[in-house]
Amino acid sequence: MKALVITPGAGTGARLVEVETPEPGPDEVLVAVRCVGLDGTDTELIRGEYGEAPPGESQLIFGHESLGIVERVGAQVRDVAPGDLVVAMVRRPDGCAACASGEPDMCIEGNYRERGIKGIHGFLAERYVESPAYLVKVPPALREIGVLLEPLSVVEKGLRHAWRIQERMKAWEPKKALVLGAGSIGQFAAMLLRLRGVETYVTARHPNPTISSRMEAIGAEFIPQQDDAGDVKVHLADFPALRGPFDFVFEATGNASVAMGAMRVIGNDGITCLASVTGGESQVEICASCLNVELVLGNRCVFGTVNANRVDFESGAQDLARVSSRWPGWLEGMISRRVPLARFAEALTKHPGDIKVVIEIARQAPLA
Ligand code: BGC
Ligand code: ZN
Repeated sequence: MKALVITPGAGTGARLVEVETPEPGPDEVLVAVRCVGLDGTDTELIRGEYGEAPPGESQLIFGHESLGIVERVGAQVRDVAPGDLVVAMVRRPDGCAACASGEPDMCIEGNYRERGIKGIHGFLAERYVESPAYLVKVPPALREIGVLLEPLSVVEKGLRHAWRIQERMKAWEPKKALVLGAGSIGQFAAMLLRLRGVETYVTARHPNPTISSRMEAIGAEFIPQQDDAGDVKVHLADFPALRGPFDFVFEATGNASVAMGAMRVIGNDGITCLASVTGGESQVEICASCLNVELVLGNRCVFGTVNANRVDFESGAQDLARVSSRWPGWLEGMISRRVPLARFAEALTKHPGDIKVVIEIARQAPLA
C-alpha cells in the first residue's frame, strides 16, 4: 500500500513510498483511511525538528488527524464492525501511574508513544491496524468533517480541565473569554466557548476578512492587532481594558512570547490555558514581580494542556454534531483544501488563507 513517510530528525521532507499492508490480529481492526488532516506538528516532523521512528526503523509514516472506515475486524472484536466510521486516538500509554489510570494524555514519565509522531506509525497510508480501545466511532453524518475530531479533542480537553480546575471556587461563572491565535485550534476554542454561551474575543496579528466573518457567524469578535499596512493598532496588553476582564484565556498562537503575555491578560479568579507546543529557545524579558503579584493577588491560574483523553474525543464528536446543526456549513469552512495523496506536496505547501488542509486517501462510497 502507499504511505507518506519522513525520516525523523533528517529534515529531508516527505516521500510517498510503498509499504506492506498491515494485517489485523484476532483482537484488532483494519481501517481504510479516508483522509488525514495536517497541523503544525506535521510541519515540525517534516523539518526534522520533532518526531521518532518506530524502534529499529528509520522512517515514520506520519499523520495523526485521521478519519477512516473499518474494513475488517479480528474474530475477537465486538465493539466495532465493518463500515463503521472511526477516528483513532493518538497517544499510547507507558507504564506510569497516570497512564495506568486511563489518562495517557496526562503521562508523567513521558515514555508514551504517539501514532504518526513518536515511535509508532501514523495514518497517512491507505490502511492501518489498531486495537478497538483506541478507536472512536463517529456518526455517518460527520463523514465530511469527522477528520476535525482529533484537533478538536485537544481543545475539548483544555476546556474540560479549565472548568474542572475552576471548581476550586464555589461559584465561577465565566462571562468573557479571550482566544489568542486564529488558526484551527483558536477557532475551535472560540466555537466551544460560544457553545457554552461565553462572550468571546479572538485576536491574532494580521487582519483577515475570512476569520472576521467566521467569528461573526458564531457570535464571536475577531480583533487583529495590526492594520492592513502592518502597523500595530492594539497590543495584547491592551485587551483587558478594551474588552475584559477575561475569566478565561486560551493561547494557541504557537509563539512562546505570546504565551508569556497570555499569563498577564487574565482577570481576577480567571484561568489561562496554554496550548502551543513551541520549539527553539526563544528568550523574552518579563516583569517577574508584576506577573507574580498579579497571579497572587488576583488568585489567577495558568496551566498547560496537550493531547486528549477518550472522553474528549467523545464530547468532541457530540460538539461537531451540535455545531453542524447550529451553524450549518461552519465546520466545512474550516477545511480550506482537500488534496489527493498523489499530490501531497501541494498539501504541504502553505497557501495564504489556509485553515486546515486535508490529504484525501480514498473517498469511499458514501456511508448509509
Ligand atoms: C497532537 C497531540 C500530541 C501533540 C504533541 C499534537 O499535534 O494533536 O495529540 O499530543 O501534538 O505531540
Ligand atoms: Zn505515562
